[in-house]
Amino acid sequence: MQSQHTPFLIIGGGIAGLTLAIGLRKNGIDALIAEAAPEFKPVGAGLVLAANAMKAYRVLGMNETIADAGNAINHFDILDHTGKLITSTAMDAVGDGTPNVAIHRAALHQVLVNELNPENIVNDFLSKEISIVGDKYEVTFENGRSITCDYLISAEGIHSVVRDWVFPGSQLRYSGYTCWRGISDIVKGVPFDKATETWGPSGRFGIVPVGDGKVYWFAVKNGPENSEKLRSYNKADLIQAFTDYHALVSQLIQHTHPETIIFNDIIDLKPIPRYAKGNMVLIGDAAHATTPNMGQGACQAIEDAVILAECIKSQSTVAKAFETFEHKRLRRTHQIVNRSWTLGKIGQLKNRGLIKVRNLLLRSMPSSVNKKNIEKVYDFKL
Ligand SMILES: Cc1cc2nc3c(=O)[nH]c(=O)nc-3n(C[C@H](O)[C@H](O)[C@H](O)COP(=O)(O)OP(=O)(O)OC[C@H]3O[C@@H](n4cnc5c(N)ncnc54)[C@H](O)[C@@H]3O)c2cc1C
Repeated sequence: MQSQHTPFLIIGGGIAGLTLAIGLRKNGIDALIAEAAPEFKPVGAGLVLAANAMKAYRVLGMNETIADAGNAINHFDILDHTGKLITSTAMDAVGDGTPNVAIHRAALHQVLVNELNPENIVNDFLSKEISIVGDKYEVTFENGRSITCDYLISAEGIHSVVRDWVFPGSQLRYSGYTCWRGISDIVKGVPFDKATETWGPSGRFGIVPVGDGKVYWFAVKNGPENSEKLRSYNKADLIQAFTDYHALVSQLIQHTHPETIIFNDIIDLKPIPRYAKGNMVLIGDAAHATTPNMGQGACQAIEDAVILAECIKSQSTVAKAFETFEHKRLRRTHQIVNRSWTLGKIGQLKNRGLIKVRNLLLRSMPSSVNKKNIEKVYDFKL
């Protein structure tokens, strides 16, 4: 078996892993990323990087490049299924005015990969097993190779092999709803700087302009887990599923390139009490995968990466840095996972009577309360 050694090994080259490698590089540390995918392909739908993630990227000096690759979102509206306004938030008036940026995932990925040397990443490395050899970790991969390291960072997403090895018994939870995401050509009536979510009895439909004449949309519907029927939905099925919604919904689905449609059951990780153990740490979805209802999964992964790089710079040992990181991150990330779980239950109500009450309550909520809640989430501290 071929083996190599690196001081810092990051497993997973998603948003968390790449951002961490960039942060470490700025501190003079060359980490190695082992990524399962044989190559990075321009796949994935869109993503909103909220102000907290953009503030974190500002620390790495990357916020402007990322903003240029995406599209600033200045307003966020929640509508009922007929298109009538429930709540409206001026995002540019929240906090210090740092923009929320909607971006195609592939574009973000490209910006991140461009910041690293090709030698920082090895592809086709799907981790299989981890063991401790002396004072080092040894990770073996499906391709028959192995890598030893002094410090192991798990950034492999929600199905982390490292997490299951270090903290066995962690629980993935199915939310009760499932999601399709797609990229459509823009249609008349979609404002270029406003994101909307339409909440109705058939579920939620999100509309997010990502620039370049494209719109990222997501459709969220209650249903059983692992449903082959839902997985096989095509554009006509989706239009049918949201048939009584305002016209933009069916128009956007109609103008979607079918190959861009991605289907996922929505699951999260029940909050776990530890992220670090000795010279090993979990970041991003591996540590605290959340339902996407607050649009904070990737944002928290980015916060993790920037904060962990800072901890490694400022603490006397890496083990201390990992412990400090855990201390800084547990509370905030648990709060987001829990709030997002609750918000999903509220957003996915099916009963028309309860929906009426919910919409009435939301409409009567003072905008200052909404603004304050958002400001807490968008606050970023190193
Ligand atoms: C429908 C939906 C909408 C979302 N919208 C938003 C949004 O608007 N804003 C937001 O902030 N977040 C959003 N999220 C959440 C966001 O996608 C995730 O939180 C984010 O991608 C987590 O990044 P990560 O790097 O931790 O994990 P991942 O993105 O899962 O990356 C993990 C990487 O590790 C690799 N990998 C996996 N297993 C292994 C292994 N065993 N060995 C080696 N490599 C491995 C994978 O190939 C991948 O490249 C959304 C999620 C969903 C499902």
